[in-house]
Amino acid sequence: MPFTEITPTADIAVHRHGNRAKCLQRLLRLGLPVPQTVALSFKTVRESAQGTLPDIAKILGHFATTPLLVSVRSSSEAADWGGPGTILNVGMNTETRDHLAGEIGATLADKIYLRFIRSFAIDVMRLDEMPFLEACTVDQALNAYEAEMDVPFPQNPETHLSEVLRSMARAWEGTSARLLRQAQGAPVDAGLGLVVQRMALGHGAGQSGSGVIQFVSSSSGLPQVTGRYMGQSMGREALSADKALYLTKDKRGQSLEDILPDVFQDLIAAGEVMRRGLKEEMQIEFTVEEGRLAVLDGVRTPRSARADVKIVTALVEDGILTREEAVMRITPATLSQLLHHHLDPDEQVTVLAEGIAASPGVASGKIVFDATAAQATAAQGEACILVRRETAPEDVRGMHAAVAILTERGGTTSHAAVIARGLGLPCITSVNGLTINMRKKTITLADGRRFAAGDILTIDGTEGRVLAGQVAAQAPALDAAFSDLMRWADDIRDIGVRANADTPADAMLARRFGADGIGLCRTEHMFFEPGRLTLMREAIFASEPQDRAAALERLLPMQRADFTELFTLMEGWPVCMRLLDPPLHEFLPTQMEGIRGLAEALNLPISEVKARIESLEEFNPMLGMRGVRLGLVVPEIYEMQARAIFEATVEAQARGIPVVPEIMIPLVSARREVELVGARVDAIASAVRQEHRTAFDYTLGVMVETPRAALRAGEIAEFSSFLSFGTNDLTQMTYGLSRDDAGRFMSTYVNAQIYPEDPFQRLDVEGVGQLLLIGAERGRAVRETMILSLCGEHGGDPEAIAFCRKAGFDYVSCSPYRVPVSKLAAAQATLTATSKYFLR
Ligand code: PEP
Ligand code: MG
Repeated sequence: MPFTEITPTADIAVHRHGNRAKCLQRLLRLGLPVPQTVALSFKTVRESAQGTLPDIAKILGHFATTPLLVSVRSSSEAADWGGPGTILNVGMNTETRDHLAGEIGATLADKIYLRFIRSFAIDVMRLDEMPFLEACTVDQALNAYEAEMDVPFPQNPETHLSEVLRSMARAWEGTSARLLRQAQGAPVDAGLGLVVQRMALGHGAGQSGSGVIQFVSSSSGLPQVTGRYMGQSMGREALSADKALYLTKDKRGQSLEDILPDVFQDLIAAGEVMRRGLKEEMQIEFTVEEGRLAVLDGVRTPRSARADVKIVTALVEDGILTREEAVMRITPATLSQLLHHHLDPDEQVTVLAEGIAASPGVASGKIVFDATAAQATAAQGEACILVRRETAPEDVRGMHAAVAILTERGGTTSHAAVIARGLGLPCITSVNGLTINMRKKTITLADGRRFAAGDILTIDGTEGRVLAGQVAAQAPALDAAFSDLMRWADDIRDIGVRANADTPADAMLARRFGADGIGLCRTEHMFFEPGRLTLMREAIFASEPQDRAAALERLLPMQRADFTELFTLMEGWPVCMRLLDPPLHEFLPTQMEGIRGLAEALNLPISEVKARIESLEEFNPMLGMRGVRLGLVVPEIYEMQARAIFEATVEAQARGIPVVPEIMIPLVSARREVELVGARVDAIASAVRQEHRTAFDYTLGVMVETPRAALRAGEIAEFSSFLSFGTNDLTQMTYGLSRDDAGRFMSTYVNAQIYPEDPFQRLDVEGVGQLLLIGAERGRAVRETMILSLCGEHGGDPEAIAFCRKAGFDYVSCSPYRVPVSKLAAAQATLTATSKYFLR
C-alpha cells in the first residue's frame, strides 16, 4: 500500500512514516478533531524521488470530499531534521475556484487560487518568484505561469499532487538539505515521509479562520497563551498578518476569546489534553470552519534553553513526566546554552567569519590587541574582545578583563581555549582566513574586510562565529528549574563530576555548580599575576641554586596561602593538585614588559635575558622539558610545592577542615619518574609532620598523558594510588597532532571525514579510548583500589563521560562552567546504561 490513512489504530511508525505522521495519530487517539489525513512512507517518497510515483488517483480518491483540496507536509523521523515546507491547497483549479466562489464568494476563492498558483510555481516548479509575487490577480498569475512554462497552469489535481510529491522528495535528497540534517544528527540514509491532509479551508460563511496557539512563553517557558487568529485565513498566515487577533482577552482589541469563546475553550482543553497525552508542551495549528475547531498539526513548542528547562520541570511538578524522563529530555547542549550568554533565537545576525568554537557564550565589545589595552578598556567600563595570534600566561590578566577572546591560531585545547573555558568567556580559535597585523592593530578577514582597534564585533563562541557589530544576548538563567534539574541529575548519576579549578574564583564556581571536588588544579595557573609570573620564571631560569632558592622561598608562602584558601573553600571536598607543568613556550616572556621584569628580577641586562630565553627555546616544547621532566631536572620546584600543600593541609586541619590532599605528577612516561618524585614528596610530608608535630594523610597519583604511561600503568601503579587521564595531551601524543596547531587543518580533516570529529573535542574512543581502557585495566590489576578519572577537556564531552562510566572510572573533571553539563550527561549515561529509563 503506497499510503496509510492515519487512524487511531493504523500501523503508523516513526521509523517508517516520520514524526509528524505519528504525532497526528496520537492526536487522533486523544480524540482531537484532526481532518482526514493519509501518510506516505519513507519508501514511497524515496521511490518518488527516483521517478516512481505512487498511485496518485488512488490517494486522492481516498478522500471523500468534493471539491477536494489537500495540504502536503513533510514528516521526517526527528522534527529537527527539517524537511521541505508545507504546500497548501493542492488540487485547486479553475473549476474548484468557481465552485468555491458560489460558497464563500469570489474574492476569497480567488485569494485561495492565487495563493496556490504562486506556491506551485515558486516552491514546486521552482520558477522565479518575481512575476508571481507581482501578479495581483488569478489571471495575471495564470498568464505568468504560461509565459514561464510554455504550457497552461495544470488543472488536474493528480498532476498537482504528483509534482508536489516529486518536488518534495527531491528537495529532501538535495545536498544542502542533507548536510543540514546531518548536522542535527540525522543518519546518511534518513528518510522523509509525507502527510496529505484534507484542507480545512478557514474561509467561508460564519466564523471561519485559522491560527496558531501555544500555551507557554517561548522565552521563559512560563504559562502564557500566545499566538494569533485571523478570520478568513489559512496556514500560518495569522502569525504575520497585522490585522490578526490576539487569542486571549486583550485591551488592544477583539480577541478570539471574545468572538469565539467556545473555540477558545476547546483550544485550551486541546492544549491540556496534548500536554498530558504527549507529555510535551505543544503548539497547535488550527482552523475554524464555520465555528467548528479543526486541529491540523501539533509541533513541539519552539523554545529557548531556559524555557526548555522550565517546561520540563513543570511537567514533572504536574506528575506528567518522571524525574528520569525530565533528565533525559534536556540535551547537554541546551544546558550549556543556559549557562552562558546566548543569542535570542529571533536575533538577526551577520556572520563575518567562522572558526573553532573553543568556549561557549556570546559577547560583544571593542576589539583590542593586547592585555594592557584590554585592561585599560575594561577600566573605563567598556567591553572588549582580546584579539591575539595565540595567548600566553602574560595575556591572562587581559583575558580576565575581556568579555571574549579571538585567536588566529590554536584549537580546542590550546592555551586560549582552556583559559577562556575556565573563565566562562566565549572564545573562537583558528578563525578561517583571519590575519592579524599586531603592529597596525588590525584584523583582516578572508574576504578582505578589515577591522581596527576600537571597532565593535560580537563573538559567538557557542557556534564559532564572528558576528558584525553589537548583538543582544540573553543572560544565563540559573533559576529554580535549573536547580531542580541538577538535583535530579545528582540523585541519578553514578559517576563523579569534579571541576578543573585553579583559583579561589574557580573553586567557588565549582561549589556553586555542585562539583564533587577539584579534579585538576593546574598549579602553574596560580602564577599568572605579573609579580608571581616573574618569580616563577626566575625559579625556572635561575642558573645559580641560591637564586632559585631565593625565588622559591618567596613563592612558598604564596602557594601555601593559595592552597589553604582552596581547602577552605572546598570544605573537605577532595582537591587534586597537579605539580607544576608549564610548557616552557607558554611561559617564556615574549613581550618587552615581561623580558624587562625578568631582567630586573635576575639583575641581568636585557640582552642576556633574551639570550637565556633563546637558549631555553625548544623545537617541540610540547614534547620538551615539561611536567615531571622539569620536576626532576629542577627538583626544588616540586619540593616547594609539596611543602606548600602539606603546610596548607596542617593549617586547614587546624581550622577544622578535614583535608587529604591529592598530589598529581604530570606528563609521566616511566615508572622511575614516579618513584623518584614520590620519594621526595614523601620526605617533605614526613618533615612537615615532624615540624608541626601533627599527622595528615595524602595520596600521590599520576596523570596519564603519554601513551607509554597508559601502556605501563601496571608498574606505575606500584607508586600511584590514582590515575587521571589527561586526554588533551594523550590525544596530542596518540595522534602525533599538535593541540596548538591542529586547528589549521582540522576543518579540512573533519569535512573530508578523515576524522569523524575534532578528537580534541570528542574523545576518540577507538584510539585514545583504547589507551584509557588499557591503562585502567593494567592499573587496577596491580592496585585494585586504584581511583580512575579523566581530566582533559573531554570531561565535558557527554560521549566521553558515558565511555568513562562504562569503563568503571570514578569521576571526570571539567572546567567549572561545564560541571552542570557533565552532571546531566553523567545522569543520562547512568539512565541509558542501567535501563532505568525506557525510550518510548
Ligand atoms: C591534559 O593534558 O589533558 C590536561 C588536562 O592537562 P593540560 O591541558 O594542562 O596539558
Ligand atoms: Mg596535559
